[in-house]
Amino acid sequence: MGGSDGSGGSGLVVHDLSVGYGPVRALRQVSLEVPEGAVVTVLGGNGAGKSTLLRAVCRTLSFHGGAVTGGTVSLNGRRLDGLSPDRVVAAGVSQIPEGRRVFARMTVADNLRAGALGATGGRTGRAAALRRVHELFPVLADRAQQRAGLLSGGEQQMLAVGRGLMATPRILLLDEPSLGLAPLMAERIADTVREINAQGTSILLVEQNAALALRLASRAYVLEVGEVTLSGPADELAASDEVRRRYLGVVDEDAAADAEGARTTHPALTRWKG
Ligand code: ATP
Repeated sequence: MGGSDGSGGSGLVVHDLSVGYGPVRALRQVSLEVPEGAVVTVLGGNGAGKSTLLRAVCRTLSFHGGAVTGGTVSLNGRRLDGLSPDRVVAAGVSQIPEGRRVFARMTVADNLRAGALGATGGRTGRAAALRRVHELFPVLADRAQQRAGLLSGGEQQMLAVGRGLMATPRILLLDEPSLGLAPLMAERIADTVREINAQGTSILLVEQNAALALRLASRAYVLEVGEVTLSGPADELAASDEVRRRYLGVVDEDAAADAEGARTTHPALTRWKG
């Protein structure tokens, strides 16, 4: 990834991105790539800058009082920075924000229609997108005329994901899809993410649930206080002492001793700072 200036390459390329909210510097020279067809995850604790990164990609930072102060974002060689949020959707990027935000008073069907507003595929494209969403989430077809606010938390998350898919994105940005869901429902959402990816949509997944995210992704980045501190193949990260200790909650003495004793080196991991 190193030498890219952000304008070339296939997939999503974030290069040297810096973001501030007034005086608060939320991201510092963050670079990452989501190759076409890949699932990539960004791990990090509270306040690391994960949501900020997604907002910067889909150009919604200004709604939150933030601004990009440096760097570039491109999709398949086309610069996204500088576009309005609706043009970013039209360019093939859908964001599912944290917190299962659905229009509670609108019906399930109208929520899905709203998701297609930025899409470029016309009537046929919308019909195909709706079929795909109903196949992935049959409950959304069953409940089409029900108000979205009456759905369970898990069903609202399905609706939020379904709404994002209505724009037929090339890449889906998912902000903590498992947050607040019971383990079984979180697994269900994970299965769907796999299926969506298998159908050809790239995924950028932001998660605090590192175990789940590392199972889904082929590549992972660790974000700490606005900077990428570690990145590499997801299975290598999952095996690294640091990630196991800090993000996978490995606390048992034997594992800690093993990790300490082995001091395994992971050649495929890139460390940004000591
Ligand atoms: P969480 O997992 O808790 O959602 P996060 O990794 O998504 O955290 P961000 O929400 O991106 O982190 O926040 C990154 C930094 O930017 C934090 O220091 C946060 O306080 C700050 N920040 C986020 N949103 C705003 C805002 N609207 N105005 C000012 N500062 C903000």
